[in-house]
Amino acid sequence: MLPAADRIRDLRQLLNQYSYEYHVLDAPTVSDAVYDSLFQELKQLEAAHPSLVTPDSPTQRVGNELKGGFQKVNHKWRMLSLNDVFSIKEVEAWFGRISKLAGDSRIDFFADIKMDGLACSLVYEDGILTQAVTRGDSYVGEDVTANVRTIKNVPLRLRDSKRCADFLVGRTEVRGEIVMLKDDFEAINQRQEAAGLPTYANPRNLAAGTIRQLDPQLVADRPLSFRAYDVLRDKSSEVPTQEFAYDALTELGISRNHQAKYLPNLAAVEEFIDQWDELRHDLPFNTDGVVVKVNDRQLYEGLGIVGKQPRAAIAFKYPAEQATTVVRDIVIQIGRTGAATPVAVFDPVVVAGSTITHASLHNADEIARLDVRVGDTVVIFKAGDIIPQVESVVESLRPADVAKFDFEAALKRQYSDLEFDRRPGEAAYRLRGATSEILLKKAVEHFASKSALDINTLGEKNVEAIVDAGLVKDMADIYRLTVADLVELDRFADLSARKLVKAIQAAKRPLLERFIYGLGIRHVGIQTARDLVEKFETLDGLQAASIDELLAVDGIGQVVAESVVAWFSDQDNIDLLAKFKRLGVEPIYERLTGGLAGINFVVTGTLATMSRDEAADAIRQRGGVFQAAISRETNYLVAGDKVGSSKLSKARSLEVPVIDETQFIELLKESK
Ligand code: NAD
Repeated sequence: MLPAADRIRDLRQLLNQYSYEYHVLDAPTVSDAVYDSLFQELKQLEAAHPSLVTPDSPTQRVGNELKGGFQKVNHKWRMLSLNDVFSIKEVEAWFGRISKLAGDSRIDFFADIKMDGLACSLVYEDGILTQAVTRGDSYVGEDVTANVRTIKNVPLRLRDSKRCADFLVGRTEVRGEIVMLKDDFEAINQRQEAAGLPTYANPRNLAAGTIRQLDPQLVADRPLSFRAYDVLRDKSSEVPTQEFAYDALTELGISRNHQAKYLPNLAAVEEFIDQWDELRHDLPFNTDGVVVKVNDRQLYEGLGIVGKQPRAAIAFKYPAEQATTVVRDIVIQIGRTGAATPVAVFDPVVVAGSTITHASLHNADEIARLDVRVGDTVVIFKAGDIIPQVESVVESLRPADVAKFDFEAALKRQYSDLEFDRRPGEAAYRLRGATSEILLKKAVEHFASKSALDINTLGEKNVEAIVDAGLVKDMADIYRLTVADLVELDRFADLSARKLVKAIQAAKRPLLERFIYGLGIRHVGIQTARDLVEKFETLDGLQAASIDELLAVDGIGQVVAESVVAWFSDQDNIDLLAKFKRLGVEPIYERLTGGLAGINFVVTGTLATMSRDEAADAIRQRGGVFQAAISRETNYLVAGDKVGSSKLSKARSLEVPVIDETQFIELLKESK
């Protein structure tokens, strides 16, 4: 992993570049979701390392440097940005923070749709429009008055209003967003297309590019519209609340969103956010969220500013379909058909509302096309219920020393005992000599074997018969077998069919470790399955485990951890587990207690009266732990015949008592 300082430096450099393309060139090269995601990462890293924050960090600045050609104007009051939040939890945390600061004051809110345009301030002197200024870097903006005058819904003179007569005297500053409506944008792009000219990327950047044209005639030809969200007076008490500000805007003849609403409490805020999640798609302009502000303006001011954002307002952003994360590993899973499928495992990331930790990379060609490498920052895409995908790699964030992913080397490392073929013209590497049918037979046989579910009537020949007859298409299907199905086959008579169905139905509540072992996850033998169960206790717990959590289990190394993650990331396997559940198969976890509870054993050498597996079983049945290797935690080393001297000397150096087989059997008897 890159040291934080390097990552911060790289993120800052890239975000500044994106910001320049977006704010100055009006031609972004990445989506806002990608920008926001990287920006959040930078913000979190800076929060964890405050000494690394610099004034040129994008987290400290609003907008960007100004383009030439326009008069620079100092804003009378800074035009700030807004703090983004991405979940209701964050909204609640914000509410908690401001409630603390507000003391006894009751907090109510005002919310509006967040428009995706560019901010503009309109200055009216004695009711007449005298100046229009872009937000710029928040302190200094560009004078775009001539262009803004061409926007039809910007009044050149404020409407006479009895209620707001004061606003027609002296300086009244109106702030809002210049947007291009979606329909207008479509129409322009159609015209461009018809004329064989390039189309524009999105309404926001076309609006921003238009308003910063030096020729007002060109601006007049492009339909823009203005929607206000604020009004400011020298004497702030003239605008006591946000709600009042919006009423005043209507009185003065200025467009504002009618969706904007007074909200008495946090529950109403949450309801507003919820309501616009779907409905926003029908609005005439683009939006990516809602803005929530403390309604009382005195309290709003009193809450102050942090960096470039007021404490008293937030921009809630709806879940984006893209987000960035860092690839920690690429593991390979052998699927149902014997095809080797690579899976990218990454830092957990929320995309389209769900937390994602891995995504299939399909095959070696797709890895080569994306050129995705371990350590890369990637863009993950997920829309609605579709399966998440790695969309692209953010190449400029690639650490200097990462190598291209070598598929064959990775296959060798993970599956050193297997051989794979890649047929000409095929994308997938496949297990040599394997077909879906052979693999299925092996899988069912293994599932029914002694150390797994121990269904002794389901041996090789019977498995072959039921698979060949098409009665079983996956392991879970055995639970659907009926006597009527079986008697159709040559191998079964009524009695043997009944016996088999009964044995299978009796195996619906297997011990969890046997079930996990039975799944046939590569490198997960019965002992490893036990270690996993000891740690994770449920199938769901194991399914959710990250590589790091797996590596923390005693006796589990990289290859096993990767194999487990790969298995649980295969959609066929996820479906299989769901099917087991549907069919009423419920593995059970039994924490074994007994006379050996909490005592750790290592067994070495050959025992005369039992196998290693039997010794392990005996220990576990009595609540003891069977360890793979000696450590400080080991209580006994059981030494059988032909024990290497290194084990014994290790035991001695760690002061672990060594017992022989007779003493071990004694101990087992005592603790029955
Ligand atoms: P912001 O633009 O997201 O939020 C603040 C602004 O929201 C205000 O200045 C105001 O103009 C606007 N706004 C819209 N509706 C409003 C309402 N009803 N009430 C109050 N304000 C309202 O924040 P920001 O930090 O100034 O700009 C960052 C935005 O620019 C992000 O959305 C980011 O994704 C985008 N960006 C994208 C790229 C890229 O490369 N794609 C680069 C830089 C920035």
